[in-house]
Amino acid sequence: MVAKIISGKEVAKQIREELKAEVEKLKETHDVEPGLVTILVGENPASVSYVTAKQKTAHELGFHSVQDNQPENMTEHDLLALIEMYNKDPKIHGILVQLPLPKHINENKVLYAIDPKKDVDGFHPVNVGKLMIGEPDYLPCTPAGIQQLLVRSGAQIEGAEVVVVGRSNIVGKPIANILLQKAEGANATVTICHTRTKDMAFHTRRADILIVAAGRPKAITADMVKEGVVVIDVGVNRIGKTPEGKAKLCGDVDFEAVKEKASMITPVPGGVGPMTITMLMMNTVRAAKLAAEAA
Ligand code: NAP
Repeated sequence: MVAKIISGKEVAKQIREELKAEVEKLKETHDVEPGLVTILVGENPASVSYVTAKQKTAHELGFHSVQDNQPENMTEHDLLALIEMYNKDPKIHGILVQLPLPKHINENKVLYAIDPKKDVDGFHPVNVGKLMIGEPDYLPCTPAGIQQLLVRSGAQIEGAEVVVVGRSNIVGKPIANILLQKAEGANATVTICHTRTKDMAFHTRRADILIVAAGRPKAITADMVKEGVVVIDVGVNRIGKTPEGKAKLCGDVDFEAVKEKASMITPVPGGVGPMTITMLMMNTVRAAKLAAEAA
């Protein structure tokens, strides 16, 4: 079997078209433009490029988008006051604080200061808790993107044996939780593996759907998967440079070998990556809708 490649670029494009239409409708029916502020403290080059990409997408979708750049030496107190200002701003529906923050600022304190209704990253404990009890408002972006990739590529999720490698708060735990929900696009039987798992291959070989978020290049080899598995490779590992001097990336899965056994597989780059920003936009549109309906 040679796998069908799940293109995150294509799925993201399709969702962005749908969001554009929703934004237009929201303007017509409620005279509301989804508002997203991205707060960047300092000038970390990777963070600058992430924030720029988020703002560019927000702009393309017709959002009211604000990029708020703050100096590296900004105090925690001032950042908390800034967040409070955006919490109260009716034109802003989503607040994104780009991580990592400078060392003198407590990241959790900052994330917890965001109004849960404007927490479009889905990291606030209120939103994490709501997902846990099956009443989510906002799903965290990367796991939400993974679910969309599975649903939109026609993977059979209900009743499937899903194995997740990795238990981080931003990918592993939330995707396990999302696919466990008693809901459409979920209802799976989920196993989570991590560095203390005794025999990881025992679990990965049982998987109908294997989601790998370990941050270890080629940790999953062909002998660790069964024929017909659906593979979502979340890992992004920098393994040198291309002849053009760009970072050369690979996932956590030995793509070339595993694609010979899988039924579907995501590439790296071009798989999960393009979905994350798109889901941030989806959450912001949802935040604007919820605010408009509550007004
Ligand atoms: P993380 O916080 O470092 O967590 C990695 C998890 O994988 C941990 O739970 C760790 O177990 C587990 N793990 C590591 N090596 C393992 C191994 N050999 N066997 C079994 N489990 C192993 O990473 P993360 O933030 O979840 O990110 C994971 C990867 O996804 C990274 O490459 C990251 O760059 C990528 N990522 C991509 C996107 C995207 O948009 N495409 C978004 C987020 C992350 P322990 O808990 O036992 O240490």
